[in-house]
Amino acid sequence: MNTSASSLADAVPEFAKTFTGQLIRPTDPAYEDVRRIHNGLVDKRPALIARCRGVADIVDAVSRARSLSLEVAVRGGGHGVAGRATVDGGLMIDLSLMKGIHVDPKARIARAQGGATWGEFNRETQLHALATTGGVVSTTGIGGLTLGGGVGWLLAKCGLAVDNLLAVDIITADGRVERASPADDADLFWALRGAGANFGVAASLEYRLHPVGPTITGGLVAHPFEQAREVLRFYRAVTASLPDEFTLFAGLIHAPDGAKLAPS
Ligand SMILES: Cc1cc2nc3c(=O)[nH]c(=O)nc-3n(C[C@H](O)[C@H](O)[C@H](O)COP(=O)(O)OP(=O)(O)OC[C@H]3O[C@@H](n4cnc5c(N)ncnc54)[C@H](O)[C@@H]3O)c2cc1C
Repeated sequence: MNTSASSLADAVPEFAKTFTGQLIRPTDPAYEDVRRIHNGLVDKRPALIARCRGVADIVDAVSRARSLSLEVAVRGGGHGVAGRATVDGGLMIDLSLMKGIHVDPKARIARAQGGATWGEFNRETQLHALATTGGVVSTTGIGGLTLGGGVGWLLAKCGLAVDNLLAVDIITADGRVERASPADDADLFWALRGAGANFGVAASLEYRLHPVGPTITGGLVAHPFEQAREVLRFYRAVTASLPDEFTLFAGLIHAPDGAKLAPS
């Protein structure tokens, strides 16, 4: 159920008394930029965007949404193609200002806030030549990718992103702050590892790290479409015997602009 525009207008000044992030309404100059997500075909207009700076802001936002009967959408990296990071007429809880990342190189653990992207995460962990399985595209958010499973370059050697997830600090729909881990709330932790976007707002996520790099070999080789059959046969034969350290994806896609095709 959506709240009326007037009750929302009345609620915002009260909300702003404690909220330390930004509250953005459709009339604010930043609104058009901030409401945008990766998939430009998604054109939803939230009634209010709460750009949180910390856990208490998220708790405030969830509580306000409940008291105003506003539908909620959580924005992590905003890369979800289906556009579930935003909502028409509801409250968008935007985590994109929450990008704190702490690496414990000795314990090989990283804890990152829900608005970090994989590029930002890797930048910090690579200072210690450590990494975990993240997305193949650096601008994807750690939140949505991990809570959905998470396939990436280190998959074969290190498992899915959720296989490396150690704990999640989550704000549930009733505004409670919970830590989900195998020791703290094993059932919730189990559920978060794959269906996570439906169980609350993940304020921060903790990952196991592995020694990787800092120098790695990678890249893209594009072949002409006419050679697809031959290339895919080659791919099948070669990948059957590759070591786990070597991840190779094949796809029938448009080559990036200006890509040089491998000679036949
Ligand atoms: C260009 C591109 C490349 C991709 N590459 C990969 C890949 O290599 N591997 C892979 O596994 N997937 C990949 N994906 C899919 C991607 O993992 C999912 O779309 C993922 O949901 C994106 O996460 P996000 O935080 O950026 O997205 P968002 O759009 O912000 O969120 C997606 C969903 O997760 C929820 N969500 C996000 N953050 C949180 C949070 N902190 N707490 C609670 N709910 C949250 C949102 O509410 C929404 O329902 C790719 C997608 C794109 C567009």
